Amino acid sequence: MVPLSHCELCPRRCGADRLSGATGFCGAGKNVRIYRWGLHDGEEPPVSGTRGSGTVFFSHCTLRCLYCQNFPWSQGRQGGDVSVQRLADIFIDLAARGAHNLNLVTPTMWLPQISQAATLVREQAGIRLPFVYNTSGYERIPVAEAYSDLMDIVLTDLRYASPQSAAEGSRARDYVDASRAFAEWAWRKVGPLDIGSDGIARRGLICRILVLPGRAAEACDTLHWIARTLGNEVHVSVMSQYTPVYKAPDTPGWDRPVTLEEYTRVTDCLEDLGFENGWTQEYGTETPETLHGWEMPAGG
Ligand code: SF4
Repeated sequence: MVPLSHCELCPRRCGADRLSGATGFCGAGKNVRIYRWGLHDGEEPPVSGTRGSGTVFFSHCTLRCLYCQNFPWSQGRQGGDVSVQRLADIFIDLAARGAHNLNLVTPTMWLPQISQAATLVREQAGIRLPFVYNTSGYERIPVAEAYSDLMDIVLTDLRYASPQSAAEGSRARDYVDASRAFAEWAWRKVGPLDIGSDGIARRGLICRILVLPGRAAEACDTLHWIARTLGNEVHVSVMSQYTPVYKAPDTPGWDRPVTLEEYTRVTDCLEDLGFENGWTQEYGTETPETLHGWEMPAGG
């Protein structure tokens, strides 16, 4: 268990005493804050399945990208505080509604509390659904080891291949090393995606690559790294949906969508490297601006 009295859950290692009211770079305090929860059909097909992924969008973020589509809750503090028991009850409710898994979106700064809630879910309801650890990839290995019970399926971003881009986009010059180390660790820990006869993922790694404007070469660099280090049987999800929102419209170099040429360069690279498992997005796919029909947190 990593103490919240000296938080070092993510590579920023602020050391904030979150138990005494201090907050670090991510802005997270003592009590879990969540923005929305519900059955979600927007993940990769073996994760969403037919009934949906039981998803909790956690508030705050350790990365805080300047182009974040979720900025109202990742950086704008939106959401509601919930107790550990309330979080457990949400997981139990999602399971009762038929969720294929329990999907933790941006969970890093809440790992100790989520771990406590997971114990309650097992003890109080006997539920053992796979957890999906849905992360920006900005992780620390000792922390991942400590909370690997929450990582049956690891859905991790590999967002940058250059420290310069990571510094510009997310003020995290060390992101490339951290995210690659985490992907390597996850590959050793959970291995390739294990999909049951029902088409639903039970365990394994999915790497997500969001193509960024002017940075198709970086996405290709990342694909080369995956092929070289993990092998090309890894499930890879290449996304074209970058939208210049939040601070991006006012930031040169980040203020436009990805072009079709840029996206095609990356999907060609995927093919050239022999990746056969995974998904690409149809160019021009947009993500919804709001999460209609989702439950608000109902208080602690
Ligand atoms: S999780 Fe938040 S408080 Fe903890 S080290 Fe990271 S940025 Fe700092």
